[in-house]
Amino acid sequence: MEKLDLYKVLEVSKEASQDEIRRSYRRLARKFHPDANPGDKKAEDRFKEVQHAYEVLSKPEKRREYDEGPRTFFGSGTTGQPAGAGFGDFSDLLGGFGNLGDVFGRTGAQRTQSKGENVTVNVRLSFKDALDGVTTRVGVPVEESCGDCGGTGAAPGTVPRTCPDCGGRGVQSRDQGFFALSTPCSGCGGEGRIIEKPCKVCGGVGRVRRTRQVKVRIPAGARDKMKVRIPGRGNAGKSGGPAGDLYVKTLVEKHPVFERKGDDFVVGVPVSFVEAALGAEIGVPRPGGGTVKLRLPAGTQDGKQFKVRGAGAPRAKADGGERGDLIVRVGVVVPKKLKRREREILEALAEEREEDVREDLFKKVGT
Ligand SMILES: [Zn+2]
Ligand SMILES: [Zn+2]
Repeated sequence: MEKLDLYKVLEVSKEASQDEIRRSYRRLARKFHPDANPGDKKAEDRFKEVQHAYEVLSKPEKRREYDEGPRTFFGSGTTGQPAGAGFGDFSDLLGGFGNLGDVFGRTGAQRTQSKGENVTVNVRLSFKDALDGVTTRVGVPVEESCGDCGGTGAAPGTVPRTCPDCGGRGVQSRDQGFFALSTPCSGCGGEGRIIEKPCKVCGGVGRVRRTRQVKVRIPAGARDKMKVRIPGRGNAGKSGGPAGDLYVKTLVEKHPVFERKGDDFVVGVPVSFVEAALGAEIGVPRPGGGTVKLRLPAGTQDGKQFKVRGAGAPRAKADGGERGDLIVRVGVVVPKKLKRREREILEALAEEREEDVREDLFKKVGT
């Protein structure tokens, strides 16, 4: 089978620059375009060859591969028998390159406009800030629309040109009897526009990576690992699509005393064995600062829990508003040392009380 020299097809030398290749391709593609040569089978075949040659030689990586071993670039006899090749073969030919996407069924009417990605950042909060709420700034690494080129990717002072080959649609389609064949435009790589001079700042991408300072309002009563959503402050959209959202995840500092349980706080409070036995009014620390009074009844047992209503974390309006509770878990403290007088009193108490505190235990064991 005769091998096709892609350089010859494009009428350029092996040393041709990418620019020369592109220029030559444009010229030949116009010359042999089926619209310009209705019914001319030879022109049609030449057009396909030109397309194919350009597809390979316009991509430096493929061009290198081709230069090193052109064999791998030849499909099943397409170039050998141009007379028999219809557009169906054209699609086979292009299909072999993998990166052309769907050969069939792409209308090209919708250009690839897409929403920017969502971005999540952590924000560390002190216990108090989380409880009271705070407005803070967070550094958000985002892809932003490039300010130098206004997101177009073209160097300042220049604008991307609408691709002349596809009229900006990004695809080339051809009616072929009962179906239309579409292929991504090789003149612009499917972008629909051509950037002659890429913006130096973003390299032609139209987006740049930077850290944006975003003001975030953390609501009072914020929990640990809560996500606050800020719409539209994520990555910039592509091709004019909407920006993604920003999620600020709270990392709340642990408090040495207060443990958060939903909207409640739990606090362990030591009480003396005398307070527990006689009952007392004690002061309990509040999560937000200050103290709250708690009435212990006589005979309070170790581990007993009391609820101080409304002394917990502020609750979101959606959850009923107001505040959670403060749960006080009593821990009875037994003195480690006794003064002589105290010991005498307790010994007198022991004589006075004839209670057997383990009676119930033994009853349960059945001894
Ligand atoms: Zn194009
Ligand atoms: Zn730019």
